[in-house]
Amino acid sequence: RKRIGIMTSGGDAQGMNAAVRAIVRMALFRDCECFLIYDGYNGLISGGNKIVKAKREDVSGFLTLGGTVIGTARCAEFREKSGRQIAALNIIKSGIDSLVVIGGDGSLTGADNLRAEWHSHVEDLLDAGKISKEEAVAHDNLMIVGLVGSIDNDLATTDITIGAYSALARICEAIDALQITAFSHHRAFVVEVMGRNCGWLALSAAICTGADYVFIPEDPPKGKDWESRMCLALQNSRAAGKKTSLIIVAEGASDSELNPIKADYIESILTNRLKFDTRVTILGHVQRGGSPTFKDRLVATLQGAEAVEAILRADATTPSLIIGVLNNKITAQPLKSAIKLTKELTAEIAKKNFDKAVKLRSTTFTK
Ligand code: ATP
Repeated sequence: RKRIGIMTSGGDAQGMNAAVRAIVRMALFRDCECFLIYDGYNGLISGGNKIVKAKREDVSGFLTLGGTVIGTARCAEFREKSGRQIAALNIIKSGIDSLVVIGGDGSLTGADNLRAEWHSHVEDLLDAGKISKEEAVAHDNLMIVGLVGSIDNDLATTDITIGAYSALARICEAIDALQITAFSHHRAFVVEVMGRNCGWLALSAAICTGADYVFIPEDPPKGKDWESRMCLALQNSRAAGKKTSLIIVAEGASDSELNPIKADYIESILTNRLKFDTRVTILGHVQRGGSPTFKDRLVATLQGAEAVEAILRADATTPSLIIGVLNNKITAQPLKSAIKLTKELTAEIAKKNFDKAVKLRSTTFTK
């Protein structure tokens, strides 16, 4: 009988609760035991009442809730091997043999580190007399399954992350509201959206709201005259009869020299050069708020169910996995290679190799 631990970690994202619910319900349906781990890696390190056996009704009402009811954290201790060893001890003492981590690239990198070190943790704990020989044998392996919960949609090996569609919906609602007031005053709005070093949210929002200009990390404006090109494009659109201007800036946007492009800077250009009445809106955490859209409920539920199936299918040779979506199909790929690819992707962005990075990133928009 499998004993599955479930936790959420890193930044919260809409749909995390739906994933937790699906895992608990599917696990119980498939005759597994499951444990809710509260407050991310902090809970795993604290143990005790932070690791609680779950009943069906413990996740009632989760499907439609935003954020994460079981809590999340940024946990510095888990970044250290010593912290991960305490987590390993609590996992073993709780009898957990499979761990599902719902989080972003940082959380899944942490999970991958725990996976890589698992045998040495078991040996150390046995040598230190903290676990018995029987416990060491029973926990010879820890199966980890990652679900990507992040509004940024920034992980390699999945087309979409849990939370990204809901954040996009929230951004579109907010921009639609801004457009009404912009129209009345013939104003320009510069809107900053989240996404860290990934432009998926900004680019998708620009398409969905009909923005005039968008800045994303993967496609920095080329040359020194980008400001003039932007001004010309905006002037042309006004000359053609448009009463408003909308510019979307991803929080990680930069020019080709990697100098950040910030909303305030765009505002100053529009105000000084074009004399546009310009306002800046930084959407901030509202993008993470509210209930998950149908897409995130669906993706999270399908992925949660697949996480349990993957655990049940696994034998001693099965690697830890990451559940994703590729070409509209739920996938289970090795966690190790997904994390490696994501690291390569981030490194390519840092080296300004944007085309390479975009190819590595498996999202709906590749160009
Ligand atoms: P989001 O994309 O929403 O920010 P995230 O999971 O990437 O989510 P992080 O703050 O990067 O968020 O990571 C969450 C937690 O995962 C960290 O606080 C830490 O406990 C753990 N973690 C991150 N990176 C590592 C690492 N390299 N090794 C071990 N643990 C890590």
